[in-house]
Amino acid sequence: MSTQNISIERTSAPKQKPSADSLGFGRFFTDHMFTAFYSTKKGWYDAKITPYQPLPLDPGASVLHYGQALFEGMKAFAHEDGKCVMFRPEFNWQRMVDGAERLCMQAPPKELFLQGISELIKVDKEWIPREKGSSLYIRPTLIGTEAFLGVRPADEYLFFTILSPVGSYYGNDNKPVKIWVEEELVRAAPGGLGATKAAANYAASLKAALNAKKNSYAQVLWLDVNREYVEEVGTMNVFFVFEDEIVTPALGGTILGGGTRNSIVTLLKKQNKNITERKISINEVREGEKTGRLKEIFGTGTAAVISPVGELAAKDWKITVNNGEIGPVASYLYEELTGIQQGVKPDTNNWLYHIS
Ligand SMILES: *Cc1c(COP(=O)(O)O)cnc(C)c1O
Repeated sequence: MSTQNISIERTSAPKQKPSADSLGFGRFFTDHMFTAFYSTKKGWYDAKITPYQPLPLDPGASVLHYGQALFEGMKAFAHEDGKCVMFRPEFNWQRMVDGAERLCMQAPPKELFLQGISELIKVDKEWIPREKGSSLYIRPTLIGTEAFLGVRPADEYLFFTILSPVGSYYGNDNKPVKIWVEEELVRAAPGGLGATKAAANYAASLKAALNAKKNSYAQVLWLDVNREYVEEVGTMNVFFVFEDEIVTPALGGTILGGGTRNSIVTLLKKQNKNITERKISINEVREGEKTGRLKEIFGTGTAAVISPVGELAAKDWKITVNNGEIGPVASYLYEELTGIQQGVKPDTNNWLYHIS
């Protein structure tokens, strides 16, 4: 499907744009959205950009009953020279394809995904915030829409994308957060959906996050089914610095392979840094704190980019990491990644996708 097939209907009532300091994360949506439909009979059809509005959805739609839903999270940036870019959208498309395979859904073809989102951003380009640390957050979403209550994969799908101007995730200071080690609930089990960006994973994670927040912890550290090895932190991948080794849990089906994680591993490998992907037990983390080997912990993901951890606590222990301050590795990676995204550092890996 080429660009000519994407029709554009512009809004006649543009919304007032929020002020830079009120953005927060995901509170505001732009004037337009992109939608495209799929049926086994027609293939992909009716790709269009329209004013932002409620979706046409039958109450019998499979997504509402059996949860066939996948989403993505990416960002677009406006550079000093007026150009607009997305960060690694092909990575996100591939992840949606892989998730769709696991959930027996129909993923949009690459051209439809990239062109539909690019055209949408062009239509709403005035919405890309320009202040340092801010960006246009992109939420591509795929849902099963067939009205049918039998249990099998749907025959009809809707792929849509909405946009949200966002400030830097934690405001201006990237203050380390306190994290609760979750020893009861688990996020993902072997053979399950953990490696996909299924909406269901988020539903499964809310209770632990809520409990943590009640005790003034920002998020939880997820362990594997045996509550032995570290998997992720909240909805982010997790990195540890032990002396000069930078380490992140190896992907193995229960961990979501983040684009931020992948970018960091790629950057550090190119610089011949000691970066490893392996199992990390929660005991190794506690031992590392006792012996002084543990220097830093931080989470990584599109929304916050890097989120340092200043304290880790469980039912009967608590440790402080790097005196509760952001460490040099986390600071360096934040500057490096956001620098590439904002066009002030060289994009040697061709991660920027130019929209205009
Ligand atoms: C989205 C997500 C991440 C981070 O992925 P990025 O591509 O870096 O944004 C990590 N863990 C989970 C569970 C996620 O859903």
